[in-house]
Amino acid sequence: MEAMARPYIAVVLAFLISVLAPSLAGPRLRRLAREELTPGLRPRRQWAISGASVTLSIVLPLLLLARGSSEVAAVAALAVMGGTAGLLNDILALSRIVLLLMAFAIAAAGVSLGLVIGEVKPPFTTQMVQLGPWALPVSVFWMLAVAYAVVLLRRLPRLAPGVVAMVSATLAIAALSVGPSGSASMAGAMGFIVVAGASGALRRDYPALGSSAHWAMGFALAGITIVGMLKNTAFLVLGVPLLALGVPVGETTYAMIYRVGRGRQGLALGQRWELLHETLIRSGLNPRRTTLLFHLATLYLCAVALALVRMVEVTFLVKSAILLVSLAIGFALFFMLARIWSEPLDTADDRVAMLGVPLARIDMEAALARVDQFVQERSPHMVVTSDTPSIVRAQDDAEYQEIVRGADMVTADGRGVVWMARVLGLPVRERVSGVDLVERICERAEQKGYSVYLLGALPGVADEVAQRLRTRCPGLRVAGADHGYFTPEEEPKVVQRIAEAKPDILFVALGAPRQEKWIRRHMDDLRVPVALGVGGAFDVLAGRVRRAPKWMQRAGLEWLYRVAQQPRRLLRVWALPRLVWMALWEALRRRS
Ligand code: UDP
Repeated sequence: MEAMARPYIAVVLAFLISVLAPSLAGPRLRRLAREELTPGLRPRRQWAISGASVTLSIVLPLLLLARGSSEVAAVAALAVMGGTAGLLNDILALSRIVLLLMAFAIAAAGVSLGLVIGEVKPPFTTQMVQLGPWALPVSVFWMLAVAYAVVLLRRLPRLAPGVVAMVSATLAIAALSVGPSGSASMAGAMGFIVVAGASGALRRDYPALGSSAHWAMGFALAGITIVGMLKNTAFLVLGVPLLALGVPVGETTYAMIYRVGRGRQGLALGQRWELLHETLIRSGLNPRRTTLLFHLATLYLCAVALALVRMVEVTFLVKSAILLVSLAIGFALFFMLARIWSEPLDTADDRVAMLGVPLARIDMEAALARVDQFVQERSPHMVVTSDTPSIVRAQDDAEYQEIVRGADMVTADGRGVVWMARVLGLPVRERVSGVDLVERICERAEQKGYSVYLLGALPGVADEVAQRLRTRCPGLRVAGADHGYFTPEEEPKVVQRIAEAKPDILFVALGAPRQEKWIRRHMDDLRVPVALGVGGAFDVLAGRVRRAPKWMQRAGLEWLYRVAQQPRRLLRVWALPRLVWMALWEALRRRS
């Protein structure tokens, strides 16, 4: 009974130490730690506190677990050696070569304590292959790689604890799901100890993590991967740790490729490498979002790894295919999120070409100012609100594309458009939707004395919108309102009515691309200073269709809400994956 409870007690202990230890460091030490946060100074005491806390929170529970298990004791020893080497670096700022030598010595010590990868199962085989004389170098290399992968994450605060916690949890779950063999359950328990030990460091007010905490976590993880690998199936042997560590390993690889690509020496160990997360930050992604992005990527990779571990019956070939597809999807999502979350670099241009559609780089205020200017100029102007389906349509419909290109202002009507513009590296500021434009233009029109004309939607809707607008803006001059279901024979009459009413601004809600083509066809006869195509805006303003809640609009989910209300719009949703695909393709093409 006591033996069965031990792993649980050890995990709880790990969590308690990692959360509480920094607070127990004593008021004087804590104060010193705070004082050291002066920029430019190395916060050595903070590093010491965090290093000791993380190391102890991993080592003490491991020792509790270790009774009779030399493997567990060996992992504990690795963590202690890692934490100590890191601490030396924190205090003395060692050179990279010295650090590498120390790491090498620790890995060698781990091997001599029995942490050895003795056999692996290559792809397409059912037999384990004994590594024989290669076992020692492979084990040392593996430990170094895992530990360094974690240590490299150090350049972004709070990145490593999250990644280590997720990777350890994945290893633990994978190990336990394979079956109740001794090593597997030990690896499982150790995995959860590291999860608990690392998660305390995610606390916002945790002392800054120095080398010490990172080296301790890195070597503990390295040890666990080896214990977990010993007697497991092929995928566990290579796939899980590699996959789960994909993020940090990916970073290292990127760092190498970047250096080689720049024509610098590939492996100058004494020099500093630029890592993927540093590149992202340099190109406008803030550190908080970079951390979040890497955590999400780790979570995704861990989920893929676990899913693959569960597919016991599936052949290796199928597993590889699933893996490749998941990695491709993961890469695309990573790339898009990185671009969407980055502050776009500014350009002097006031419009940018998105897949042939010239989007204005403006917010609502600037759009209103432009409309103002168009009214003052008196000559006919056309404004297009371009949502996802209409950008896609512009690719298929040459006439429509030509009209949109000739428009005086094209706004991005939808989160999807703004996001995909960012994926393309285009600095579009914010969405300016048809509904918002109608409302805000009418407020402006009331102040300035402009008159508006409403054309479109089912009979009665435009009148109702006119009513509602008048209630909202009592001084607004509505020059007229017409429905949008006129026959070709009635069309000249409609045009004539509008021309005679002489509005300053005409809203046309016939749906894209009809409204744009209609405006273009009659622009000269209408003689209206500003004509805007506003799609389904009247239905929304008349209350026939409800607008999505604000949080859905912000999350870019307005289309989902509209489909739920009007299922006939379902077909248009297809435009979204098409736009994503086109944007991705174009972005990759431009990069290469
Ligand atoms: N509409 C119209 N005449 C037509 C077809 C459509 O006035 O011959 C109206 C329709 O009632 C709706 C708007 O045009 O109010 C189109 O809205 P939808 O949401 O379909 O267009 P989108 O916002 O996608 O451009």
